[in-house]
Amino acid sequence: MKRKLLASTIGMALITGSSAFAAGVTDAMIENDAKSTNDVLSWGMGQQGQRFSPLTKVNTGNVAKLVPAWSFSFGGEKQRGQESQPLIHNGKMFVTASYSRIYAMDSKSGKKLWKYEHRLPDGIMPCCDVINRGAALYDNLVIFATLDAQIVALNQDTGAVVWKEKIDDYAAGYSASAAPLIAGGLLLTGVSGGEFGVIGRVEARDPKTGKMVWIRPVVEGHMGYKYENGKQVENGISGTTNKTWPGDLWKSGGATTWLGGTYDPSTGLAYFGTGNPAPWNSHLRPGDNLFSTSTVAIDIKSGKIAWHYQRTPNDGWDYDGVNEFITFDMNGKRMGAAADRNGFFYVNDAKTGKLENAFPFVNKITWATGIDLKTGRPNYVPENRPGDPTKGPDGKKGNVVFSAPSFLGGKNQMPMAYSPKTGLFYVPANEWGMEIWNEPVTYKKGAAYLGAGFTIKPLNDDYIGAMRAVDPKSGKIVWELKNNAPLWGGVLATAGDLVFYGVPEGYLKAVDAKSGKELWQFQTGSGIVAPPVTWEEGGEQYVAVVSGWGGAVPLWGGEVAKKVNFLEQGGSVWVFKLAK
Ligand code: CA
Ligand code: CA
Repeated sequence: MKRKLLASTIGMALITGSSAFAAGVTDAMIENDAKSTNDVLSWGMGQQGQRFSPLTKVNTGNVAKLVPAWSFSFGGEKQRGQESQPLIHNGKMFVTASYSRIYAMDSKSGKKLWKYEHRLPDGIMPCCDVINRGAALYDNLVIFATLDAQIVALNQDTGAVVWKEKIDDYAAGYSASAAPLIAGGLLLTGVSGGEFGVIGRVEARDPKTGKMVWIRPVVEGHMGYKYENGKQVENGISGTTNKTWPGDLWKSGGATTWLGGTYDPSTGLAYFGTGNPAPWNSHLRPGDNLFSTSTVAIDIKSGKIAWHYQRTPNDGWDYDGVNEFITFDMNGKRMGAAADRNGFFYVNDAKTGKLENAFPFVNKITWATGIDLKTGRPNYVPENRPGDPTKGPDGKKGNVVFSAPSFLGGKNQMPMAYSPKTGLFYVPANEWGMEIWNEPVTYKKGAAYLGAGFTIKPLNDDYIGAMRAVDPKSGKIVWELKNNAPLWGGVLATAGDLVFYGVPEGYLKAVDAKSGKELWQFQTGSGIVAPPVTWEEGGEQYVAVVSGWGGAVPLWGGEVAKKVNFLEQGGSVWVFKLAK
């Protein structure tokens, strides 16, 4: 108890000013992360995931003077996609890299302190490149998930492994690449592998020991569990077995929670998005297929689902609903917003899940004409659903349809930002479509479970990506900046009225948050597919981003992948500050 009090006192000192003490990261510090400017303790720059910094030292008037402070190479032969968000605490930067690696550097000089390379088995099955999106900090630990579905906790000072836990069997298709979420003293993680028919779920552990506290499957029909004195105790079925899933399909139902969650202390709920129901061929599973393609709000104390909001019931396009649910205040209420892969932007009541607003944030949507605000359900265009293969001419291939957005989404994993100052969301959107068709498929452990074929195609000659400032109240796009390649990195907004984001062409850009006017850019030497962060140290404001082209686009992008195959891989962190 004494130690806990001391830690939180030092934590407060760190929040209000600078401290040389090697203080552990506390729950209070994490809850205050969005406001504390001298650290970045969580993925999302705060549990709500707003990615907004109150810092104004770098602003629209001086951002043109931003220059590199240091750069650090991940080295080795391992490059590929670098989607990681750095964390900064106590003079150290912690950043994960491709192939389940993590590095610690001196945050001011970039000097390497230690690295940890997780030993990966040969048979890992990551769907969308060998990426990792970042770590979590708790006490003196830095914790991250690995491609062979493990969680590793390391000592922040030495990089020594403190604990390691297995999430599940990588040979069945499980993997993990999201940054864990710390909420209310719990470590919350999800799973990847929806394309292999694994079961989506959220797990809560004791961050200090890795011991399981509760487990909540997000495919309807599966039992939740809690762990008391080392014993597994049943904690209620998720939903009702077979209510929205026919036959045995829920047993390999997918709906993986592969992107990190967010948390709002005012609701006590953790918000995790869920992926596609498996397989992709929707004719095999008539029904809504809960809780796929949804935001699932979980009461962290009980481990039970408080509410869910499903965006693409009976999904037939791989419109994963995993995109981050960012809570914010609108019309005097705590709301949450998500820009879905399916092309619509949604605003829900953060406490109840009630749909408050929904509108398109991309130009072309073929699968639905809109979202009914009364029922919360989409108005489908039935003829634009990929056809049933059993009704095709040879029983092997269903009707081919052209769908927009493509399954890589109007927005994918790259997190958007919200500025309470402008009241706008900054959404990295993509305009693309796909030819998609269904094929017969049966589940086989560890094998791709799609029952579909596809080719992604651009919709316009001159651009795919579009950074868009979106008004959540009116649904209007206030400004947009087109980009030739698809956007795949995240966004940072600041009180200096700046929006930072990177592009696959290698530039980190700063633009005016109100007008979208481009004010600064820097070429990082490889494509950017990761979200930038900012913090202050020694009286100066720093901006950091990871550079390294890769991710799902080069692997699955079809005709789009051919368009961007000139981009070079890499692996480095870039840090900037104002020239003196
Ligand atoms: Ca902070
Ligand atoms: Ca998917």
